[in-house]
Amino acid sequence: MSISGGIVAYADSQSETAAPAELNQNEFKKKRVVVLGTGWAGTSFLKDLDVSSYDVQLVSPRNYFAFTPLLPSVTCGTVEARSISEPVRNIIKKRNGEIQFYEAECVKIDAANNKVFCKSHFENNMIGSEDFSLEYDYLVVALGAQVNTFNTPGVMENCHFLKELEDAQKLRRSVIDCFEKASIPGLTEEERRTNLHFVVVGGGPTGVEFAAELHDFIREDLVNIYPMVKDLVKITLIQSGDHILNMFDERISTFAEQKFQRDCIDVQTGCRVVCVSDKEITMKVKSKGEVTSIPHGLVVWSTGISTRPVVKDFMEQIGQANRRVLATNEWLRVKGCENVYALGDCATIDQRKIMDDIASIFKAADKDNSGTLTVQEFQDVVDDILVRYPQLEIYLKNKHLRDVKDLLKDPEGKDIKEVDIEGFKLALSQVDSQAKSLPATAQVAAQQGAYLSRCFNRREHCKDNPEGPQRFVGGGRHSFAPFRYKHLGQFAPLGGEQAAAELPGDWVSIGRSTQWLWYSVYASKQVSWRTRVLLVSDWTRRFIFGRDSSRI
Ligand code: FAD
Repeated sequence: MSISGGIVAYADSQSETAAPAELNQNEFKKKRVVVLGTGWAGTSFLKDLDVSSYDVQLVSPRNYFAFTPLLPSVTCGTVEARSISEPVRNIIKKRNGEIQFYEAECVKIDAANNKVFCKSHFENNMIGSEDFSLEYDYLVVALGAQVNTFNTPGVMENCHFLKELEDAQKLRRSVIDCFEKASIPGLTEEERRTNLHFVVVGGGPTGVEFAAELHDFIREDLVNIYPMVKDLVKITLIQSGDHILNMFDERISTFAEQKFQRDCIDVQTGCRVVCVSDKEITMKVKSKGEVTSIPHGLVVWSTGISTRPVVKDFMEQIGQANRRVLATNEWLRVKGCENVYALGDCATIDQRKIMDDIASIFKAADKDNSGTLTVQEFQDVVDDILVRYPQLEIYLKNKHLRDVKDLLKDPEGKDIKEVDIEGFKLALSQVDSQAKSLPATAQVAAQQGAYLSRCFNRREHCKDNPEGPQRFVGGGRHSFAPFRYKHLGQFAPLGGEQAAAELPGDWVSIGRSTQWLWYSVYASKQVSWRTRVLLVSDWTRRFIFGRDSSRI
């Protein structure tokens, strides 16, 4: 079935008696916007979009929005899955029901013909066809990303992930399974220990938060319910880098490592997992080159994200096959497409443009054309770059700034008096290009969604003068200011009612008070009062009764 233009969609959504012909004409004039994805980027775009100006069609295999930062809390029953998910149809209802939602997966984007092909996945003999296509005037790609296994053998088959709500629910059941298996009579102590060995691969925020949650669950609840096996439990966290939470300020990463040491969570840094079987996890210790295997009861794989196949296919069509993620310009328009926008984890703003801009900032600052700047001039240039590209702040302030500073230091380690511009630019381009992209976070995705909806809302006003005279940026005229990310800080819950936060203005906060800040921020960020109330009542229930350990 093909749902083309505005007419069919209108006929689909109205009863036979409802539509006067005049209204039908108006509907026909509306531009069709197809939105792919109901995650952070997609829903934040829809939340503020002026739906009366567009015919909006939404496609996603999930008919709910999930508040992903609380997924680790679902794995141990601290909060329930339904307390952090909002039905998409509730969101649509708030927009006067003017958005059409189809629970289906987009399997192909046909950019040449302005069409997307979709497939629904209803089991139990769906009546009619599962496949359909949608035509669009504008396409908003907000498809997120998938887990990255780095093609490590056995990971797909033998590991748990923590990307979707279903993953968290499955993990919750599997943790309880491990305790029940370890309690069965007739097992040797070694077998019980293996069943209760939880391995987390990846020392980023998700892996660390899961390890901390699991530790709290075991210490506060499970040891009382399973007293016979409580001394056999072990949590191991494997990290390929030298430190956990290495994208955070050094103080946070050190605090987390010390806390985990006190909690007897075994942190193994500098290890790369080479293979995972159903019984063992094998890793290579980078410094020594030796390979070791450890038995496990459950492995959680949390090492980052990669591009979804449908996005990869689209990238091939538009000549972006050699890129890691979909490149957009600063207005979030996909490079090489007039009417396709991409936001959230599936996209990144093209870095080449940023490097060109940085070059011209340096050129302007180097008034005497000497190729060097004084340290003060250099600092002013860096401040200017950060105003334009706040995403570089994380890159310039934490791990990567240390790398850049090392490259800038004179051989005797003395304070530098002059900065060689080419050397700095080279240093910037040599350090991991991923670090210069916006971080793949809900914060970025939500801000991009809100930004794009503002542009779409103003588009009608700018119709007569589409590339209006207001701004002249990067060699082109634009009616809208480019997207600018505002970094509001980041949290790392570390368990035991302690959290760490890196807040704007170089402010680092660690401890119990930060955990309360975390509670208040996450309660306030909920998409509806319903989930806010459910969430706060889950937290209260946990404080009073502990977590529920039934395997439902
Ligand atoms: P998503 O939110 O993943 O949404 C993608 C959407 O596309 C989904 O609705 C999906 O169903 C849909 N989709 C997928 N395939 C198709 C298809 N073929 N056709 C149609 N639709 C499709 N960020 C923070 O800022 N702070 C945090 O504390 C934080 N914690 C996190 C904890 C965990 C455990 C995880 C997994 C992530 C966390 N993040 C956090 C990152 C954040 O969740 C992501 O950056 C954010 O979800 C990206 O939003 P998105 O809209 O691009 O993608």
